[in-house]
Amino acid sequence: MNDPEGKPLEEAPLFLPASRLQHLLDALVRAGFRCIGPRLRDGAIVYGVLDRATELPAGVTDIQAPGSYRVGRTEGPRMFAWANGPQALKPLLFSPHEDLWHAERRLDGGLEFIPDLPNADPLAVIGVRACDLAALALHDQHFLHGAYADPYYARRRSELFLVAVNCSHPAATCFCASTGDGPCATCGFDIALDELDDGFVATCGSERAHALLAGLDLAPATPEQVSEARRQSEQAAQAQTRHLPSRNLREALFANLENPRWAEVAERCLSCGNCTSVCPTCFCHREQEQPSLDGSSSAHTREWNSCFARDHSYIHGLTFRPDTRTRYRQWLTHKLGGWHDQFGRSGCVGCGRCITWCPVGIDITEEAMAICGSRT
Ligand code: SF4
Ligand code: SF4
Repeated sequence: MNDPEGKPLEEAPLFLPASRLQHLLDALVRAGFRCIGPRLRDGAIVYGVLDRATELPAGVTDIQAPGSYRVGRTEGPRMFAWANGPQALKPLLFSPHEDLWHAERRLDGGLEFIPDLPNADPLAVIGVRACDLAALALHDQHFLHGAYADPYYARRRSELFLVAVNCSHPAATCFCASTGDGPCATCGFDIALDELDDGFVATCGSERAHALLAGLDLAPATPEQVSEARRQSEQAAQAQTRHLPSRNLREALFANLENPRWAEVAERCLSCGNCTSVCPTCFCHREQEQPSLDGSSSAHTREWNSCFARDHSYIHGLTFRPDTRTRYRQWLTHKLGGWHDQFGRSGCVGCGRCITWCPVGIDITEEAMAICGSRT
């Protein structure tokens, strides 16, 4: 359960045997939630509808490196022995493409503006990682608690139930320990699970989770199980080899706007925008009108955009970031610098996705280190 600041109150963790994970899914369905969770599809672990616990990727792991993602087999039956897939929570809440409102011409010639708010059903997400909870908190800050709350995001967000799973198998690209966002989830979840060989240590994070777990009649986790869970998290943090030079690179980045490294990275960068698509915190978008051919209606749509796209910096006849050097510089200085002014922290939660899914393997930690590592 949470205290008034959203941090979980101390409550003795429970033990959920692996054979009873289905009972948790069933309880969520009885409580009115549709469950989604990690599924193995087309060679990647992605979110999909989860009716049965047996649909989870048991015995599967991921092997990630700059520009490379593969799945492999593990010897054990664990279901969460992998780091993260290409998706975060972002597409579930901030839709890649949606109609915000549409206008229709009335018979008297006037225009009627009709909001297109989404239908959002209660949704339970199983297997959320700590880095993605940290990204969600940043999106909440922007979409819910800014000057104007976004009703599209808010509607989906209000229906979310989050079952986190603490990371025990970080990828080679992960660096959440250095940003302070993982590998263990500390707040923002309803339930957090630590997977052991025979089941899960379950920590309750909300009133509604408390009621749900009480219905499962679980035994308390033993001190040995709790300490094994803690050991796993510590080991996962120690296993991470990448890190950023500092959690706050604002001064160092803005002092390095003319560093020759921007031109060097631009020689490799394709300006494809993969990094911003997979990034759980990036939320740039464009809005545009889509009028019908007969002029009787028009839809106002929003879709993801990227600071790597040419049109992203187009304004009044001028593209003010005309080349890859200035676009990459914009991305990094905003993500690791400007976010401190806007949100009080860096925009990077250390998930490592931009490293893995960059087609040429550009590594944000390497670039940050090269540009300002010695200055922090
Ligand atoms: S910048 Fe890269 S490592 Fe950081 S949150 Fe975004 S995708 Fe993850
Ligand atoms: S850094 Fe990599 S993923 Fe990002 S735009 Fe450049 S080539 Fe694409």
